[in-house]
Amino acid sequence: MSYRSEPWSLTMGLIKRKHGEVDRWITQALSGHGVFNTYLFAIGKAPREEFYFCGEEDTPRHAIFECPACTDLRSVAQGASSNVDSQSLIARMLSSEEEWQKYAQMLRSIMESSPVRGTRKR
Ligand SMILES: [Zn+2]
Repeated sequence: MSYRSEPWSLTMGLIKRKHGEVDRWITQALSGHGVFNTYLFAIGKAPREEFYFCGEEDTPRHAIFECPACTDLRSVAQGASSNVDSQSLIARMLSSEEEWQKYAQMLRSIMESSPVRGTRKR
């Protein structure tokens, strides 16, 4: 199976945080389970691992940080002056309640947006 979870040290940071709620979107982003084709394919619920839009493997890392289909959704959360990557996302979310809400919303938008991510059923 090609989906991967993020390092568990990040998970420990989440467990010890002082603010924010780990909702189902954040859980899916970290675990790789859920709406991503790499996962759905692995459990027999998607015909292929690729994201239909770009042909790349549909992993959390790809959707959240790399895929051009989600550029607009990322930039809304990040603003023009900052860049977040897979190494800094959790650290930023843990830095303040405001940052947490901003990136939690970004993750939800990316995973929820069926016109962007595809036409699969939930
Ligand atoms: Zn893509």
